[in-house]
Amino acid sequence: MRIGCPTEIKPQEFRVGLTPAAAAEAVAHGHAVLVQAGAGVGSGFEDADYIAAGARIVDTAEEVFAKADMVVKVKEPQAVERAMLREDQVLFTYLHLAPDPAQTRELLASGVTAIAYETVTAPDGTLPLLAPMSEVAGRLAPQMGAWTLQKANGGRGVLLGGVPGVGAAEVVVIGGGVVGTHAARVAAGMGAKVTVLDRSLSRLRYLDDVFGGRFANRYASRAATAELVAQADMVIGAVLIPGAAAPKLVSRAQLADMKPGAAIVDVAIDQGGCFETSRATTHRDPIYEVDGILHYCVANMPGAVARTSTIALGNATLPYMLQIADQGWRAAVRADPHLRAGLNVHAGKLTYRAVGEALGLPV
Ligand code: NAD
Repeated sequence: MRIGCPTEIKPQEFRVGLTPAAAAEAVAHGHAVLVQAGAGVGSGFEDADYIAAGARIVDTAEEVFAKADMVVKVKEPQAVERAMLREDQVLFTYLHLAPDPAQTRELLASGVTAIAYETVTAPDGTLPLLAPMSEVAGRLAPQMGAWTLQKANGGRGVLLGGVPGVGAAEVVVIGGGVVGTHAARVAAGMGAKVTVLDRSLSRLRYLDDVFGGRFANRYASRAATAELVAQADMVIGAVLIPGAAAPKLVSRAQLADMKPGAAIVDVAIDQGGCFETSRATTHRDPIYEVDGILHYCVANMPGAVARTSTIALGNATLPYMLQIADQGWRAAVRADPHLRAGLNVHAGKLTYRAVGEALGLPV
């Protein structure tokens, strides 16, 4: 199979769909790999790295799309890319079709077979191609929050770990899933005093078993949330209710109870955010202040560390990409129900129920 990887064109997207290491694996499996010139530069990969891996560099996205049997990307195809997709082609990337009728319409019109990273499942019910980005965002959250807390940024001027003779900062993480656990580990590693709140008792048991000595956990009742948020120097929002907007767990009125200059890092902003006062921001202008509380609400946090994110995503997508390339998409989805769960569009039809329900289209 010919696997093609174009340069990402969505603004401020520096990741790339294929690493040189993944290209080398595909070549070792007998596939041809085409990479657009410069596609890896934003993630620190030169064209020469891909050539050394056995890939061929082509000048334009048009050439990649025209020659590839499977196009491997990071973000959903933009309008000019959608116009280049064909019915005998597989598209393997993040799609997020439910809130995007224009993209859905054009993918259906193209006849392409589109397999979405975000709906591929694992046997334990988790989402293996979303998890790496949650890991990145979680580990990044305390780092961004620590920066937000600095005086020059309007923050409280508190060092997370304190120093001998000065106590550590208090960090509260709301939601102890993938993002929350990674955030808590890093915040604790920076020396902060960390408490994770969750509503799932089984999750709290797991956190207690594994991390009991490193950070505390509490059941996320309204009262416990209000009490801990009022004491915190930093609050990290990391809740998820699958398929739904994030619940608002901290109201604007509660900001008045917080310490002046405290930092909120709302990682759940891509689902609307779990603070009433959250609104999405960008890497260029990441923080704003409401009632004396600093808010960091960047919706695509992994983009800040494009190289780490690209490699993490590539590690996760590689086995699925090879399954599709080695067996052909049809045999691959027949053999693996978890890859089958990734199939969103085929031959002008939606094949993923939740997307059809969200957009009022037949499945
Ligand atoms: P997850 O499913 O692994 O964890 C979510 C946790 O929230 C679960 O443990 C759940 O029990 C808990 N929860 C649900 N409702 C709660 C409540 N009312 N109070 C306390 N806990 C509650 O999800 P995840 O992968 O950790 O993702 C968390 C959020 O981060 C999602 O909204 C995801 O989209 C987002 N995210 C954002 C970025 C970004 O760049 N901003 C990147 C990756 C993920």
